[in-house]
Parts: sequence; C-alpha cells; structure tokens
Amino acid sequence: MPRAFITGISGQDGSYLAERLIDEGYDVHALSLSSEPSPHCPGVVLHRGDLTDVDRVRSLLVQIGPDEIYNLAAISSVARSWQEPDLTARVNGLAAVGLLESALQAQETTGRAVRFVQASSAEIFGEPATSPQDEETPLRPVNPYGAAKAYAHLMTGVYRGRGLHAVSAILYNHESPRRPAQFVTRKITAGAAAIARGEADTITLGNLDARRDWGWAPDYVDAMVRAARAESATDYVVGTGVGRSVRDFVAAALGHVGIGDWERHVRVDPTFVRPADPSDLTADATLARERLGWRPTVSFEEIVGRMVEADLTAI
Ligand code: NAP
Repeated sequence: MPRAFITGISGQDGSYLAERLIDEGYDVHALSLSSEPSPHCPGVVLHRGDLTDVDRVRSLLVQIGPDEIYNLAAISSVARSWQEPDLTARVNGLAAVGLLESALQAQETTGRAVRFVQASSAEIFGEPATSPQDEETPLRPVNPYGAAKAYAHLMTGVYRGRGLHAVSAILYNHESPRRPAQFVTRKITAGAAAIARGEADTITLGNLDARRDWGWAPDYVDAMVRAARAESATDYVVGTGVGRSVRDFVAAALGHVGIGDWERHVRVDPTFVRPADPSDLTADATLARERLGWRPTVSFEEIVGRMVEADLTAI
C-alpha cells in the first residue's frame, strides 16, 4: 500500500488532499499542529507536532518511510506574515528546508524513493515585471510570506539537484468553502450570506483593486498529486490564467444573492490595506497543462457561488 505524509492537514488543501489519498487507498500519515482533528480526515494517522521541531519530524519520517510527502503547513496568510515575520520565516522557510533534508535522509535510510511537493506561492513573484508569470519569472517577493516561500522554493531546487524528486508547486490563490474565515474571499462570501439573511448590511474591505488569479482548491491539490507522480521533477506554476479584482469577487458574491447595487454594501477601510500588495498576479500554467495534463475545472462564478451557498447554509 503506498504511503503519504502530509503537513498542514487541518488546513483547506490538507483536508482535500487527505480525502483524495484515502480514496486512492493510500496509508496517510499527517503532522497536525492543532489539537482539533479535521472533520474531513477519517482514516488518517495523525501525529501531533510542530513542523519547526525538525528533529521530531525527521525521526517520524524515517520511521514512516513515505513514498510521497506534501508540505502544506505554513503561516498562509500574508496579513499574519506582516504581524509575525520571524515566525513566518521559521515555518515557511527554515522548517520547509528541514523537511526537505528529512525527506532525503528517509530516502537514503529506507532505500525507497521519496517524492516531495512543496506548496509554494505566486507571492514569490511579488511585484512582477511581466504578467502572466511562468516558471522562468524572476522572484521578487514584497512581503514576509513571499520571501520565506521564495527561500523554500529555491531550496526545493537545491534538493532536486541532490537526487530527491522535489517539486515546487507555485500555487495561485485557490478557494473553497473550507477557506478559513480570515481570508478576504471567505470574508466576502460570509458577508454576502449575512446580508442576504438580513443579519448584516456591509462588508468592510481594504484594497478593492488588488487582482488575483482565483481557482478551485481541489484542482490545485490535483496539480500537486500529478506533479508528485510525474516521471521527472520540476517546478510548476498552477493557476487559471485569468486575473480578477477583489471588486469582481464582491460583485459576484452579492450578485449570487440577487444584489446588483453591491457598492451600497461595501465600506473601504484604509487600515485593511497591506503595506505592500502585489497588484497583478496571473498564472501562465502552460507547463502544468502540457506535462501534467492539468487544467482548472470550476469557473470563477461557480467557485464564488459554491462558497456563498455554503455560508448561507452555515447561517
Ligand atoms: P491553511 O488552510 O492556512 O493551512 C495551513 C496549515 O498549516 C494549517 O493546517 C496549520 O495548522 C498548519 N501549520 C501552520 N504552522 C504550522 C507548524 N508550525 N507546524 C505544523 N503545521 C503548521 O492553508 P491552505 O490554504 O490549505 O494552503 C496550503 C499551502 O498552500 C500553504 O503552504 C499555503 O501557503 C500554500 N498556498 C495556498 C494558497 C491558497 O490560495 N490557499 C495559495 C498559494 C500557496 P493549524 O490549522 O493546526 O494551525
């Protein structure tokens, strides 16, 4: 039975990935920081622990001997990375490198080939000179999150050079009803649901002009699995190729509940605007399409609609 090890299991992507691997008959082990197990992961062997505890994670990996490792654990919010830049560097940067070294040691100790996927981010491109971005776009991070992810991305390439099947999946924003509430997209869909139910009147947001390339989270999990199992390892940009603004997201969410004059329900608070916010991150995922046969399966309007519906049900 193939065996996988996932970090970040309680997060959005970790839950979808665990469900998929369990369905495929994998023996799934996961590192979990939270004391609350995710309700989406029955059948997963949970190991409580912190990714920054490199020694513990290393002995765990050597003991488990996984065929596939997915490093999804991170301080994943850019806003939080501004509040805790040193923690972000430790978790998103140094601990990822510790895990790469552990994967190599597990491979050498057990003699079983290990396939490693690092969940990287479009934020490594920061304020890019060109759009869309591909695997050759220079790294120019503009926030602590992007800088820490850039370090882990570069080290993934270094470990590939040492004989590990190591892939950096450069993920653009991806959403689902499992997106934690503090992210702007969930804030918008939860706000739209509350307005529709008459429980709120406004959604308070920062920069409405920020543009992102938004996709459906399970599609991005699919890209990571395909990259892990591809014949050879390389880095992949993963995104839809279509950029939308926060304004578009709000219009789609409020439109979904039948509100056309959405401006009436939005308040802009300058304190929510980030110190530096990439203005246009859009993916050129040609390589993932051609080599992995990957493509996004859910439209922007459908993603927003599914999230609003889930928030309406939750109310
Ligand atoms: P998420 O929902 O925030 O999940 C991140 C997970 O990391 C959480 O389960 C968290 O555990 C865990 N974690 C944080 N610090 C840890 C530590 N020190 N030790 C062990 N676990 C720790 O993130 P996501 O949306 O699923 O994203 C998955 C990965 O893709 C992340 O690396 C993220 O940076 C990257 N990514 C995501 C997007 C996106 O749009 N979603 C875009 C680009 C890249 P607790 O829940 O227990 O705190």
